[in-house]
Amino acid sequence: MHDAIVVGARCAGSPLAMLLARRGYRTLLVDRATFPSDTVSTHVIHPPGVSALGRWGLLDQVVATGCPPVGRYSFDFGPITLAGAPGTTDSPYAYAPRRQLLDKILVDAAAAAGAEVREGFGVEEVLVEDGVVTGVRGGNGQLERARVVIGADGRNSMVARAVQAAAYEDVPALTVAYYSYWSNLPTDTFEAYSRPGRGWAVCPTNDDLTLVIGGWPHAELAAHRDDVEGELMRTFELAPAFAERIRDAERVAKFAGSSVPNYFRVPYGPGWALVGDSGYSRDFITAQGITDAFLDAELLADALDAALGGSTPYDDALAGYQAGRDARAMPVYRMTLGIASLQPPDEQMIQLVSAIAGKQPAMDAFARLNSGVTAPAEFFAPEHVAGLAGGVP
Ligand SMILES: Cc1cc2nc3c(=O)[nH]c(=O)nc-3n(C[C@H](O)[C@H](O)[C@H](O)COP(=O)(O)OP(=O)(O)OC[C@H]3O[C@@H](n4cnc5c(N)ncnc54)[C@H](O)[C@@H]3O)c2cc1C
Repeated sequence: MHDAIVVGARCAGSPLAMLLARRGYRTLLVDRATFPSDTVSTHVIHPPGVSALGRWGLLDQVVATGCPPVGRYSFDFGPITLAGAPGTTDSPYAYAPRRQLLDKILVDAAAAAGAEVREGFGVEEVLVEDGVVTGVRGGNGQLERARVVIGADGRNSMVARAVQAAAYEDVPALTVAYYSYWSNLPTDTFEAYSRPGRGWAVCPTNDDLTLVIGGWPHAELAAHRDDVEGELMRTFELAPAFAERIRDAERVAKFAGSSVPNYFRVPYGPGWALVGDSGYSRDFITAQGITDAFLDAELLADALDAALGGSTPYDDALAGYQAGRDARAMPVYRMTLGIASLQPPDEQMIQLVSAIAGKQPAMDAFARLNSGVTAPAEFFAPEHVAGLAGGVP
């Protein structure tokens, strides 16, 4: 009998298992994948996510993979570009480590903390007795039981399906995007480009390669499915200087593409909890998913420690987890949905961007909004906006 079984061993599941194991809980971490392995996802980790890696003692390993620190974000709106620093004194950089490297570091950290890790273990059934989840059945028929089963099994979570976790604030996929890797496309900046109906982003990663992801409204998915590269190159022409740079570069990998639904799910019930994309998914346009998974893993580890350790009733501890997650993530979620609509900026936004262009402290503040360092309510507070526009943020 385990204290916890965590299903899914990537950005949400491995940190959760590591944190529980470090507190002495008998933790089983399973994934049907084996590691190292890639997954369909780009991999920009904003400074708040990088802070979490630092708290866990894993940042040095991520840096040692050779992915460069990114201390500058730029936002090209066509007529105006804002560029600023996304981080804080304590955590000044973003990093974009390839997922086969990052996820291996995370799963190894869970094992090093004492979690039992079983790779190649697909969960086929969630065991329920008298309305309470009590364990899982693996594909080989093996039964494993625990006091709590956590679904960290991504957007198509079988745990969420099995417990019928209710969704809220859900919105169907808004964008579709494709990404690949280029050599000879040097940059030290996370570059984001917005045009009506189009958006793309560029970030340096391991092996001197540069990640580029670009996309369009989900409604256009079928229209461009058969000519992804052509449509991406036509999209890049909307920023001629970038189009010239990428024409001189060489694509070294196939395109991968995806679109994701947007939702929150109730993340707990009797004997079960959800963390990461299984409990909350948002369009990738703001690159928040990995950071969210890290921060929610910390929140859930605290809640489960309180519940399993007996200091707080289970329902109270887990309700606190849901409230904390939603309070942090919901404002960024709503901002993400707005950006993912790929609509031209409204008059208010045009005025704001025009007013802060060229003012370095204000552009830094804009970068910190987009990196998740500053909450939207704080950034868009009238006195803060007035200060930014006046040059005194
Ligand atoms: C195109 C794209 C680009 C993105 N770009 C970024 C970005 O730049 N920055 C960012 O922060 N986020 C980005 N994201 C989001 C990010 O990928 C996710 O938020 C993040 O991977 C969530 O981690 P997770 O651990 O919850 O789920 P996942 O990474 O999906 O891991 C789930 C794991 O569960 C396992 N699993 C599933 N079912 C079972 C089962 N039945 N039994 C056993 N194991 C199972 C899977 O094998 C998998 O390993 C992007 C997403 C997409 C699609």
